[in-house]
Amino acid sequence: MIAEIISIGDELTSGVRLDTNTQAISLRLGDIGIKVHFHTTVGDTLADNIAAFRIAAARADIVIASGGLGPTADDLTREAMAEAFHCPLEFREEAMQHIESLFAQRKRPMPERNRVQAMFPRGSKIIDNPHGTAPGIDLAVTTSIPEGSTKQCRIFALPGVPAEMLEMLEHTVEKRLCEEMGAGQDRLRFHSLKLFGIGESDVEQLLPNLIARDRDPRVGITVSKATITLRIAAQTATESEFQRLIQPTIDEVRGTLGQLIFGEGNVELHQAVHRLLSDRKLRLGLLEVGAGCWIAPMMSQEQDGGPFGLRAADWCASERELHSRLSISATLPNTHSQLTDLLKRAAESMLNERNIDVVLAVGTYPTLEEVTRGAGLPHTDFTMCLAVAGKPPASTTISIGGHPEVLYHRLAKSALNFLRLELSRA
Ligand code: ATP
Repeated sequence: MIAEIISIGDELTSGVRLDTNTQAISLRLGDIGIKVHFHTTVGDTLADNIAAFRIAAARADIVIASGGLGPTADDLTREAMAEAFHCPLEFREEAMQHIESLFAQRKRPMPERNRVQAMFPRGSKIIDNPHGTAPGIDLAVTTSIPEGSTKQCRIFALPGVPAEMLEMLEHTVEKRLCEEMGAGQDRLRFHSLKLFGIGESDVEQLLPNLIARDRDPRVGITVSKATITLRIAAQTATESEFQRLIQPTIDEVRGTLGQLIFGEGNVELHQAVHRLLSDRKLRLGLLEVGAGCWIAPMMSQEQDGGPFGLRAADWCASERELHSRLSISATLPNTHSQLTDLLKRAAESMLNERNIDVVLAVGTYPTLEEVTRGAGLPHTDFTMCLAVAGKPPASTTISIGGHPEVLYHRLAKSALNFLRLELSRA
């Protein structure tokens, strides 16, 4: 059973209002095992609405529309459904009584225009709207499809107001989908594996069979701020059945990608590093050199302020400290070996003075001007050093590029990942 969601309104197609209904409906349908294959957004034009309903009914088993059920001239959903499926509008006394009672409760006269909200396509059922004057429409239609046969589709039209829409979806539509259409046996479940240090296409190349579209469980790849998420999805009745079904996929991914995986579920890289330090009871010091400070704010998002109740600011140092600590001039060396040497010395001195166990020193963050200067997006050589008590310091320099929106996240996360891998090795 596949579904399509139609959101109706000029305020949505113009971008003035964000379409949150589609997201909310998609999530709820996933919970009762209905896969949403299409999202359509259409403005307040009758011909476009008719076309959108016809297209949806020809390719989906369930259509959930929201918006356009109000009393004004730009509310076209009733009319569009009636014309699209040749079901003329007819007056429903029961709906009228509900609308009149709402106006009576609010001690306001009912404008004549609201009578239009009691008009329903012939053969449709009413979906009660306890808190609003726009009842929903539940219409089963049969449409011709290109192969020459016909197909059934059930259309639910709900008002646009998010709270009313959601209440009617939960109380009436989902019940009808489960009781009358057999939904709800299975639920769409997800599990995520989080990776850092590899490109999207490299993952696909390493695991070609995994990303195949007809696979069960299905695996999707998304990237956000240089972190890759592999999302494993399957439809099962129970959580334990889901875990059983996905375990071979998890094993295959772990077997191939190994240390590139830093966590599962919603975990972010800085949280995985935080956990690693916390498990080993290690106190972390940070030294960030160059334009900005990117790792410390990430680490300080952890509300408990780290394993020892310290906040990032208590153990983070910036370039100014580097200068005073090592009594160097304001100009940083411009060779990587000299910079590496400097960062190592600074990290080791912080280790000795501050009673901390691990120091991550990174540099140098380029300025935005350096990143955006000239044509194309330049690469930045970025050096990271790690000093751990009782061990010789480790360091590496890598070349990193990307759009400025992502570049700084990539730099900071590369350093955190370096720390994670070095600690995992120890
Ligand atoms: P009513 O007449 O009760 O307002 P309606 O069905 O005519 O209901 P609309 O007029 O289209 O609904 O929208 C009502 C409100 O809900 C508006 O503020 C609109 O911006 C908002 N809305 C409509 N559709 C969506 C959507 N998909 N996501 C978020 N908000 C929406």
